[in-house]
Amino acid sequence: MKTILFIFITFSFVFAFDYNLKPQKVRENVYCFFGKLENITKQNAGNIVNTCFVQTKVGFVVIDSGPTFSYAAQAYEQMQHISKLPVKYVINTHDHDDHWLGNSFYKSKGALLIGPRTYERNVVAGMKTRMQKALGKELFGQTKIVKLDTIVDNNFTITLGDEKFEIKQIESIAHTKGDLVVFVPSKKSLFVGDLVFTGRLTSLRDGSIIGSLSALDKIAAYHAKYIIGGHGYVTDESATKEFKSYLSEIKKQVLKAIDDDVGMEKVTKKVSMPGYRKMKLYDMLHGRTVLDAYGELEMMEDDE
Ligand SMILES: [Zn+2]
Repeated sequence: MKTILFIFITFSFVFAFDYNLKPQKVRENVYCFFGKLENITKQNAGNIVNTCFVQTKVGFVVIDSGPTFSYAAQAYEQMQHISKLPVKYVINTHDHDDHWLGNSFYKSKGALLIGPRTYERNVVAGMKTRMQKALGKELFGQTKIVKLDTIVDNNFTITLGDEKFEIKQIESIAHTKGDLVVFVPSKKSLFVGDLVFTGRLTSLRDGSIIGSLSALDKIAAYHAKYIIGGHGYVTDESATKEFKSYLSEIKKQVLKAIDDDVGMEKVTKKVSMPGYRKMKLYDMLHGRTVLDAYGELEMMEDDE
């Protein structure tokens, strides 16, 4: 029995998923781990998301904590190679679980967790998130759902060292009903979560096309030099360009389809936008996004 137990423990250790995280420097003291432009699979163990950290004189501030406890632990290990500083705050940009399931790790390290009110809907006993279902017990490992320490409804500013972090919900509904952006003025860096995608397509399942477009205008008003989205690799001022064109084009074509009395069953064919077929996750997400936009825009037209 002892031998079997020993073999089991050794094997679980050997097979603990290696996320192979390497921090990329976006600018001085600002780093991100960039995830794959894929859907969640057991092969990527949920590493489909960007998480970032900002180094201050007295500690780190983490923006989004990633898909699992183990991911966050491995991210933390990489941060400790840069500097042996504690993580003081973790800011969650929104409540989709690829962005915050690392929270339980940072909580165990004494960090304060900050996020939007919509996060609360996840804190339900016995709740199984999408990530947990997709990854299974082994990969999900020690991941737990933990409560936030601070809920941000509108604005919240934290200062750490001499660095300011301005947290704000800029739209009532955009990617979700609770999207926070984090602006670090001295770094001219704006972390926007899933208000911006690059290189892959988005999902509007919890959001709004009108709100998403409006959020992009508000992001532009920050005049940030670095705009870091939740998925994708472009992090300069041009980061919003492709996403804005994509959403504007959907809006334009869906409105025309509604005007031309194209029904819901035909609209995805009509608004197939072949120019975007090269984008990652097109097959999985584009048709659905068109349908979501159709539902929203049709209702708006009816109101007029
Ligand atoms: Zn996301």
